[in-house]
Amino acid sequence: MHVIYGGTFDPIHHGHLRLALEISDALSVDQVHLVPCHIPPHRGSTGATSEQRLELIRLAIGGESRLCVDDRELRRAGASFTADTLRQLRAESGPNQPLVMVVGTDAFAAFDRWRDWMDIPALAHIVVVQRPGADIPLGSEAARLLSERRATDPDALKTSPCGAVLQLDPPLLDISATGIRHRIANGRSPRYLTPDPVWQRIQSLRLYGACPAGNF
Ligand code: ATP
Repeated sequence: MHVIYGGTFDPIHHGHLRLALEISDALSVDQVHLVPCHIPPHRGSTGATSEQRLELIRLAIGGESRLCVDDRELRRAGASFTADTLRQLRAESGPNQPLVMVVGTDAFAAFDRWRDWMDIPALAHIVVVQRPGADIPLGSEAARLLSERRATDPDALKTSPCGAVLQLDPPLLDISATGIRHRIANGRSPRYLTPDPVWQRIQSLRLYGACPAGNF
């Protein structure tokens, strides 16, 4: 089973990293592939470049063998559409390998605004992670997809290549990249919200308004 977890990761933080490990446990997979988005189609420009965000992810992962980064969206020109990424992965893995995409309820709530969203269930399973304060609106396409395709057991994802939607509610850390960017811009340290090597690199690159000689 190939599990991808996409996001802007601007910057990556412990909420992302912890979730990735929770997913690896819940789905009993050896690795979760973090897929940074190159050009996010549904939001403004990022605070760090794609290459900088990729570097921060690599620093964050360090030697953790259960996490790896897949930089394929950076190697594709133009906006990063998840359906394109899944098509590429499906072509590489063949028709039978279970492919899983992980998404938080904040992102999944707007699923029907993603390009080619109707193609996605035929490409991958979707694992929807409940984020506090971000419920899936009743009557939305996302809610309909969930009720029509709901899987009740993580093992069910292993028995078919795509098409199921599994909702998980693992313990999450209440951290957002937006909060980290604001904190740094206001001269405050984001220490312990993101790994130390990430914060050190943010400072040396002066990202998000950080001072190079800022406090740890
Ligand atoms: P921003 O604040 O810039 O929107 P973010 O911290 O929400 O960023 P993204 O890169 O936008 O991070 O999110 C990528 C994915 O990670 C999304 O599916 C989102 O739901 C999920 N995610 C973000 N923060 C957390 C967290 N603290 N715990 C679990 N999942 C998270």
